[in-house]
Amino acid sequence: MLKLDRVSKFYSTNGVVTAGFSKVSLDFELGEFVAITGESGSGKSTLLNVISGLDSYEEGEMYIFGQPTSGYGSSDMEEYRKRYIGNIFQTFNLINHYTVYENVELVLLLAGYDAAEVRERVEDIIHKVGLDEYRNTKTSKLSGGQKQRVAIARALAKETPIIVADEPTGNLDVASAADIIKLLSSLSKDKLIIIVTHNYEQVEPYITRKISMHDGRIAEDKRFARSDANAENITGDGGFNASPGIYSEGVNSEKESSEKNRIKVARQGKLSKGNTLCLGTRNAFSLPAKLLLLLFVFIFLTTGTFASYSNYIGMKNGISNSSWGYIFNNTSPDRVILTKEDGSSFNDSDYERIKAIENINYVEKNDLLMESNFEFTNVPKSLVYGSDSGFDNVMYSDDGTETVMLDGEEVEITFWEQAAAISMDSMSKDRELVKGRFPESKEEVLILIEEGGFLDDNRLDDMFNKYAYLESNNADFPSDGMRVPVKIVGIGYSTEEEVNARRKSTMWHNITMVMTQEGLDRVEALPLVATCITELRVGSNILTVGPPPWSDIWLVADSSVERGKVIVPQFIASFLLPESSGAMDIFNITNMSVELRTRSKYFDRKVNFNIEGTDEIDTRVHIHPDDLWEMYMPSEKYQISAMLKSDLYNVETRALIEEAGYKTLYLNETADKQSAIEKALMGAMRIIVLVILLAVLFFVVYFITKLIMKSQNVYYSTVRMLGGDEKACSGTLLAELLVIFHIAFVLCLGLLLKVKFLGSNILPAYFVRLVRYIEPWDYVILYIVVLAMTLLLAYRYSSQMFKKTAMNAYREEV
Ligand code: ADP
Ligand code: MG
Repeated sequence: MLKLDRVSKFYSTNGVVTAGFSKVSLDFELGEFVAITGESGSGKSTLLNVISGLDSYEEGEMYIFGQPTSGYGSSDMEEYRKRYIGNIFQTFNLINHYTVYENVELVLLLAGYDAAEVRERVEDIIHKVGLDEYRNTKTSKLSGGQKQRVAIARALAKETPIIVADEPTGNLDVASAADIIKLLSSLSKDKLIIIVTHNYEQVEPYITRKISMHDGRIAEDKRFARSDANAENITGDGGFNASPGIYSEGVNSEKESSEKNRIKVARQGKLSKGNTLCLGTRNAFSLPAKLLLLLFVFIFLTTGTFASYSNYIGMKNGISNSSWGYIFNNTSPDRVILTKEDGSSFNDSDYERIKAIENINYVEKNDLLMESNFEFTNVPKSLVYGSDSGFDNVMYSDDGTETVMLDGEEVEITFWEQAAAISMDSMSKDRELVKGRFPESKEEVLILIEEGGFLDDNRLDDMFNKYAYLESNNADFPSDGMRVPVKIVGIGYSTEEEVNARRKSTMWHNITMVMTQEGLDRVEALPLVATCITELRVGSNILTVGPPPWSDIWLVADSSVERGKVIVPQFIASFLLPESSGAMDIFNITNMSVELRTRSKYFDRKVNFNIEGTDEIDTRVHIHPDDLWEMYMPSEKYQISAMLKSDLYNVETRALIEEAGYKTLYLNETADKQSAIEKALMGAMRIIVLVILLAVLFFVVYFITKLIMKSQNVYYSTVRMLGGDEKACSGTLLAELLVIFHIAFVLCLGLLLKVKFLGSNILPAYFVRLVRYIEPWDYVILYIVVLAMTLLLAYRYSSQMFKKTAMNAYREEV
């Protein structure tokens, strides 16, 4: 059935050609148990590899059931191996993290057996090799002899007519080796079994044929009668060449084909889709360390894709207010900014008239507050920070509490939040509060938080009925010393509408403070000081001071300064004083008058102060807080905002407002004013940025995955050896990655939904805000993108890994 006719195998290394074996002619039949012996380097392994189809040959012809094989390409060769050859290796080549059952099962799955058949056959074969007890043991835990039994079981499972084994007992002790040979012998009744051995005595009692090789040629070829250890030499001629007389008759095709019909060859099926998924899932979970690493990588991939995508969405939303974002913090599409045509201030009849216009929800009179956030703390921020930046004055204790000295008393810092101030007009009064009541005086506030958010009951208790200090968050230094104490008289939840309106605004804060109109007017001075420019004038000398980055010199509230005075350090005074004052002796300049003039788009005010010098090294002009307060307290409103019920009708509503005699500024209009080319260019830019981010992410993940999957190379080359084709390998790999991707995606999705609906204490506010922009449809897009990246990843990996033939895989691993 298997016939070699003067077959030679040559190796050429660096131009030197050596023969693995040459002009070997042999004829094998079913039922034979053949031992090939010979000294090292005599060509035994090479011969076995050619018979196994693992190696090609250069000369002669090998026939299988009368079919010549010299014309076989590599896919024909794989087909040949699948159909006819079962391999057993000295090094077992088992999948160590699989159980005995799974190792045997794998071969059957790869050969396309269906699930129902598999179980029975596997049990049967495991019984045949005597491993019933170890059915569910991982093969890594077995002894050498037991491992080789598994390898034999695996070779049997394929139902090939030929089993070849290169030194199957080479790694075994004497007793196990004898066992294995006995087992192989019992299996050889209806198969052709060819083994290479160094230990002829061991196999002698069982074999039916002995082939000795010497220097690449057949030195001896003896046949024995079965179970007769000392049978005589039947056909061997004892010469260095097998007799050409016997083997050169050509092919008796009639005999061969009838034989072919009689015997079974291994099934030609393929790994089914369902079994691919099963194997992939099994592989996903088989090695916990690998699972964790891959999970980590896929969580990284998913969150990275999410971040790139939400960045894209952010840019897309951002474009509409890109030209205003640097001036206005709050670019909500609901907001229309109003000024009067004649530039005068707004009065009550203006408010009434505007409010009456259709689609206007409410009027925000304290327009500047829409741009502002406050630090909302139970201790003044400036106390905590001390003179420089850094938490100079905080005392940390062992139990984790942080305290500062406040009016001679040690006070624990219990809350520190970002807060925005809104008027009573902007909210519905028809609601129940969690605690307390609505504000009635200018220093009372009601705080609104998101229900189910991160502020727990303990923290709310900490706040309720206490004072909080508000300091402007618009700039750090200029508010220095200016703070407003407010009392928390009520706590409530924001309605869904309010939450949605907040999300449209570009301001981010944890707490919304509701105040009376007087209260709002009072706190509006804080962002004004923090954002306005002030001029100091002495005669014709003008020094402009203001918050960084406008100026390096700014005003600071300092209660040690007498009212009606400013204290100016020498360095500043030298810019201000008239030349005629002579030497720069600043102690001589008491009672000189300085004019402070505020310059802002809101109001314009001049106040006179007496100037006093100091030789302190400072860059700040000191002024009593009450003076500063009075200077900046807005009395008139020259700019207000009208908030729309629906921004969809902003064009119509703005037309109505303008008809009523006001100028409007709509921050989101700029996008519409862009030309088509500008829009297209910006759109293309966004997509380019997105693609670059995703590509970088993909390659990072690809290389990490490749490193992790390197540990699987042995697995996949074994699968190739067992008859798994490229498709089976890449399918299994894909299934494994898909399983892990889905676990990672569900984990990420859970986290995202948690953050979206419950908020987060740990994640940065920016991230939390991005999450809120993500809509259900975006999750679908996100899923598709990450899925596509996973497919691409699997495809790239597969095309690099599995292109090689089974033989190359074998050479690399064995
Ligand atoms: P054995 O298994 O009997 O010890 P081999 O079949 O491994 O012998 O080797 C037979 C001859 O072929 C030796 O001379 C060896 O050097 C040569 N040979 C085997 N494999 C290769 C190879 N991959 N490249 C070059 N020469 C090889
Ligand atoms: Mg060898």
